[in-house]
Amino acid sequence: MLQKHTVIIGAGISGLTLGWSLKHQKKDGNKLTIYQKKDGNKLTILESSKRPGGWIQTKNEDGFLFEQGPRSFRSGGTGIATLQLIEHLGLQNELLFANKAAKIRYIYTDNKLQSLPTGLLSTLYSPFFFKFLKGLWTDCLAARCQEDDETIYTFAKRRFGAQMAELFFDPLISGIYAGDIKKLSLKSCFPSLHVLESQHRSLFFGALSKKKPPSVMVNEKPLSSFVEHASRQGIFTLRNGIETLTDKLAENLKEELRLDSPVKRLTFENGKSCIELLDGQRIIADELHLAIPPNQLAPLFKTSCETIYEQLNLFETASISVINCGYHYPVLNKKGFGYLVPSKEKQKLLGVVWDSSAFPEQNAHSQQTRLTAMIGGAHFANFSSFDESALIELALKELHCHLGIRKRPDCILFKRAHEAIPQYTVGHTARVAVLKHELKKLPAKVSVLGNGYHGVSVNDCVAYANVTGHCSEL
Ligand SMILES: Cc1cc2nc3c(=O)[nH]c(=O)nc-3n(C[C@H](O)[C@H](O)[C@H](O)COP(=O)(O)OP(=O)(O)OC[C@H]3O[C@@H](n4cnc5c(N)ncnc54)[C@H](O)[C@@H]3O)c2cc1C
Repeated sequence: MLQKHTVIIGAGISGLTLGWSLKHQKKDGNKLTIYQKKDGNKLTILESSKRPGGWIQTKNEDGFLFEQGPRSFRSGGTGIATLQLIEHLGLQNELLFANKAAKIRYIYTDNKLQSLPTGLLSTLYSPFFFKFLKGLWTDCLAARCQEDDETIYTFAKRRFGAQMAELFFDPLISGIYAGDIKKLSLKSCFPSLHVLESQHRSLFFGALSKKKPPSVMVNEKPLSSFVEHASRQGIFTLRNGIETLTDKLAENLKEELRLDSPVKRLTFENGKSCIELLDGQRIIADELHLAIPPNQLAPLFKTSCETIYEQLNLFETASISVINCGYHYPVLNKKGFGYLVPSKEKQKLLGVVWDSSAFPEQNAHSQQTRLTAMIGGAHFANFSSFDESALIELALKELHCHLGIRKRPDCILFKRAHEAIPQYTVGHTARVAVLKHELKKLPAKVSVLGNGYHGVSVNDCVAYANVTGHCSEL
């Protein structure tokens, strides 16, 4: 049998999950096997950084556990893929579900925090009741979209009215994409809503009815009792931080993983990809998987394929900064997951996660408070010209204003997430299709994966990497 060399570029969660999937999962069942030893095939994962994990990064600082990247995941939908990965890695005991109080979420509007309803009944007592009622009425009368794609704003305004679009959809998008709802695509950011609209007259009643829209990544395997149970629990994290997941993957892939190995250039010939590293080394691959974001991938094609280079440059990103604040004493007078800020409020903060309230088991002691403030995104003009200390001061000023916290945190961590959040603007699905079409034309087997294409959440990255692994010709 001919030996194959498969190369993955990028050891974020996407590249690592794909590596794991290729190395361990038998294509026709759940049973684990190590293909490498059996078939003599070779797998290499190239990562430019000295550490694996990409945006996933947990820090322990002065007794505070902080996440500088993702902190929690939804257990349903593509979350099932993450739960299955956690189970395969033997990390079940690390799983931590959000506190019941984390169901309460707030938005900062009209100069105060206002809680969002947690269910149908609580909507009746919500300060937003009449807005929801009006939105429901508009939804029942709304016409369907005639276009293939539209912005989230035009969708939300058409279905629920402008007020609902600005008050609820806008901050939700800030929380996930740090983006502008007047630019982002409904079809790419909320594919399930796009499908729901095509099937039901009213979205509200459609969502309530039993017939659910098909999931984008359907997992057909029967679920284990662990995954079945966990998938109904809502939001989860890992006890010692999300980095536990990527560290465990990297540990399992230590023979295949090459850190500190930035790729400079890609060329393709006679069914093979030639990968040129910054240090001049060349690696030949029979199968190449590119698990790096489009903006970082583009330069690798600059000299070898202009069409792909230009196509990759069409994908946009947003930058944010993450400011973790730790206090050795309680500073919050409310419980909940945290709050988001609609852009109409003209604040700099996108939102604040109350980590110590959502996941109290991660607190070093019962008095500790951990908060994470996100600042930046599509509505913050000249964001890149603000330095670290200016951004920290802006964040602390708004924490004071929104939450009444006067004292400086005992511990502050700052991280700039430059061009970190993909912006799926209108036409994104079509751009991905064109990119894949162009990749198919190359004289070699090349695929793309990662948060730039099929979903920005860690769950989406894991689910898509699994699908790529199962479709691989290995
Ligand atoms: C601040 C922040 C908070 C977030 N919060 C959440 C959250 O709470 N929940 C959630 O689900 N998601 C969240 N996300 C999104 C999620 O973290 C990302 O979508 C996901 O981690 C992306 O993983 P990836 O592997 O696709 O890409 P990346 O993590 O970007 O990994 C790509 C890897 O490729 C490497 N690389 C790049 N260029 C080269 C090259 N030339 N040669 C070799 N290697 C290269 C990089 O060093 C990197 O390690 C958050 C993201 C950020 C930035």
